[in-house]
Amino acid sequence: MISSVLPTYSRAPLTFVKGEGTWLIEADGRRFLDLGAGIAVNALGHAHPALTKALTDQAGALWHTSNLYNIPQQQALADKLVDATFADTVFFTNSGTEACELAVKMARKYWFDKGHPEKVDIITFSGSFHGRSSAGIAAAGSEKMTRGFGPLLPGFTHLEFGDHDAIAPAITDQTAAIMVEPVQGEGGIRPLPDACLKGLRDLCDEHGILLILDEVQCGVGRTGKLFAHEWAGIEPDIMMVAKGIGGGFPLGAVLATENAASGMTAGTHGSTYGGNPLGCAVGCAVMDIISDAEFLAEVNRKAGLLRQKLEGLVAAHPEVFETVRGAGLMIGIKCKATNLDVVNAGYDQGVITVPAADNTIRLLPPLTITDAEIGEAILRLDKAATELMA
Ligand SMILES: *Cc1c(COP(=O)(O)O)cnc(C)c1O
Repeated sequence: MISSVLPTYSRAPLTFVKGEGTWLIEADGRRFLDLGAGIAVNALGHAHPALTKALTDQAGALWHTSNLYNIPQQQALADKLVDATFADTVFFTNSGTEACELAVKMARKYWFDKGHPEKVDIITFSGSFHGRSSAGIAAAGSEKMTRGFGPLLPGFTHLEFGDHDAIAPAITDQTAAIMVEPVQGEGGIRPLPDACLKGLRDLCDEHGILLILDEVQCGVGRTGKLFAHEWAGIEPDIMMVAKGIGGGFPLGAVLATENAASGMTAGTHGSTYGGNPLGCAVGCAVMDIISDAEFLAEVNRKAGLLRQKLEGLVAAHPEVFETVRGAGLMIGIKCKATNLDVVNAGYDQGVITVPAADNTIRLLPPLTITDAEIGEAILRLDKAATELMA
């Protein structure tokens, strides 16, 4: 008999009832060090006092009105994002995949309004993940996500990740944009080298097409910059954001330049919940903390510490681990053992990691993780690796 919850996930036998900072707690009091942060969502850990206050204060005042009216919290968050980034304008969504939908629509409308309705094609890369909507799965294009869900939304050209020479020849008169994650998340934490991101920007400029960055997972301080593309010193035309921006409240956004957004006039897009007072009040609190230069400097310092300790861990267990890669506190460990076995061995030691493609495990801890917790994480992962081979 089908379970009352649609069985699209194979869930770990863990049930958490409380969260405190970097810790998740089961009903019997068992504590887990959370290096997954709900897949890079709890950027400030669990039950951060500033976020709890922002949410409960707003909950006591007003939950929902509608985008038919002004929403001051939404205006405030848009202003903060515009001040801190390349963007001139922001649309709020409830998720990453909704951000993908709008990014695709925005790019196509841009060219339609410029008198080029034939420019609808978006170039994407293997191993990418852009969410589970029809546009999201068509954009990523993998068999695993698209099989059985046809007919797929047309207008995507899929190239091999890392095959830079293939990109320029793939640009045609129909190309509207290139869409890419600066650091692939689900694909196994595969960073695009800065030189490649610069190369993509140059290609887009040369051909006059739009660069869409998916920073749903790698954005909001995760790599040690507010947004990952800042490391390469380039700016996109359109950017998708979600996960960390809400710190656990469902919130996403599309950021864009005035030019790229020029087709999106009144009536061309909408959302009932997107940019609601609750989500935006929390988003403002998240931005106030994470956009601070000192906070980001701490993320970078701790990322260096964790990375150094992980290199030692990998060297100590060559039969379990292969290599460490990533950026900031977005780290992938390519495994020699089966990644799911490593994740399960971690559960036994009270440490949570997240599996990803390419036989990797992901470490996406809260950006607020302490030095002591980093030490504890290494101890627990070391014990997990030892037990796995025992
Ligand atoms: C998680 C993710 C998405 C989809 O976000 P949802 O909120 O699950 O819809 C899109 N792109 C990337 C890079 C992601 O990591």
